[in-house]
Amino acid sequence: MPIKRFAVEGAKKTKKPKKSSTTKTARVVAKKPTVGKISSVKAIQLEEQYGAHNYHPLPVVIAKAKGAKVWDPEGKVYFDFLSAYSAVNQGHCHPKIVKAMIEQAQTCCLTSRAFYNNKLGEYERFVTEFFGFEMVLPMNSGAEAVETAMKISRKWGYEKKGIPTNKAVILFATENFHGRTISIITASTDPDCKSGFGPYTPGIEVVKYNDHKSLEEALNKNSKNIAAFIVEPIQGEAGVLVPDDGYLKKCFDLCKKHNVLFVADEIQTGIARTGRLLACDWEKVKPDMLILGKALSAGVYPVSAVLTSKEVMLCIKPGEHGSTYGGNPIACAVAMAALKVVREERLSEKADEMGDYFRKELKKIKHPMLKLVRGKGLLNAIIIEPKDGKEAWDVCMMLRDKGLLCKPTHRHIIRLAPPLVISKSDLDKSLEIIKSVFNEI
Ligand SMILES: *Cc1c(COP(=O)(O)O)cnc(C)c1O
Repeated sequence: MPIKRFAVEGAKKTKKPKKSSTTKTARVVAKKPTVGKISSVKAIQLEEQYGAHNYHPLPVVIAKAKGAKVWDPEGKVYFDFLSAYSAVNQGHCHPKIVKAMIEQAQTCCLTSRAFYNNKLGEYERFVTEFFGFEMVLPMNSGAEAVETAMKISRKWGYEKKGIPTNKAVILFATENFHGRTISIITASTDPDCKSGFGPYTPGIEVVKYNDHKSLEEALNKNSKNIAAFIVEPIQGEAGVLVPDDGYLKKCFDLCKKHNVLFVADEIQTGIARTGRLLACDWEKVKPDMLILGKALSAGVYPVSAVLTSKEVMLCIKPGEHGSTYGGNPIACAVAMAALKVVREERLSEKADEMGDYFRKELKKIKHPMLKLVRGKGLLNAIIIEPKDGKEAWDVCMMLRDKGLLCKPTHRHIIRLAPPLVISKSDLDKSLEIIKSVFNEI
């Protein structure tokens, strides 16, 4: 079918949305807003009409946020159990981080990397010392950082490992999620993410997650051309898949043996979420390359980073990679403030203790629809067994109605990951909400 184009002259006024697009809004009550000027119904309608439909949001509108809580335009309060996919580990609108952003925004926002700026070096020293690496390459989004890690790995493969030109292979794990670029979805095993976007990038292969033998096989077959193995220590998007104890260490040792970079994508698991600063810390594995994003900026600004050794990082020369906004002064100020909060407020320890307590309480709920509880720290999931036509989505809707927000992933899994600053009493209130939903369903 030929594409429909708008006529430049006498373009028709956009039509009001059809009735059908209001089905998702049906369960949002129409009321006058108290926060901002736009009601929930209106906000949803605007997104439906003018925005790409590349997400399927739960019908709730967030107009204000603070710590572990968010408010809709009508003033109803909710506990946030998604934390923007673990970007707001430090809690929404953390005053110290917002202050750092405002001060920097009033001083100098963007210089590009054509010139030096007086924040980047300070941040680079801070972030490398914080995580114990020699060098960092700053980017903005998570996907960009993963792409960066792939490019550095290839370059290292050619320059240091001696892989013949254009023969480098990067290994990924099944069920992975690393972002949305063409190269990254090439590694995806989820048809929703992948199909319809080919042709794909060569030099990408997939081994089985949580199966070091599968990695070993791939390495034994072609180790001289393999540059890197990129893996999530816990697979967040796949539904908080926690691998067996020892998996990461075994993979790391295999990579070491075959002179392959072990690259950890800790965009979701890193920065205190799982009860350690990095999820790799659980197995005392120090990755050759570390990818960070999300909570690196506590949800106030997009900041991502790739950290590695001097030897690996310096394979990238001036002009070979970059980003206009990468390493901008606001990003640097925000990331430093965000990491200081993690340390000052002992968020790793908090996530560890609260996570143990949270899972223990969740496991006390006995209900045929609640099949399994799993997770580490405050990155948790429950598996829902559909019953009488009710699925994970319906559970999330009931939780929403009672004031707790979360979202199904992969249809039958609900991730439960509040900001790490949540208080014990708010966690208890949240548990009461979850228990009462399972009582009623
Ligand atoms: C969210 C996520 C990404 C992608 O980050 P974006 O900022 O959305 O591009 C990559 N890897 C993991 C593990 C993630 O959770």
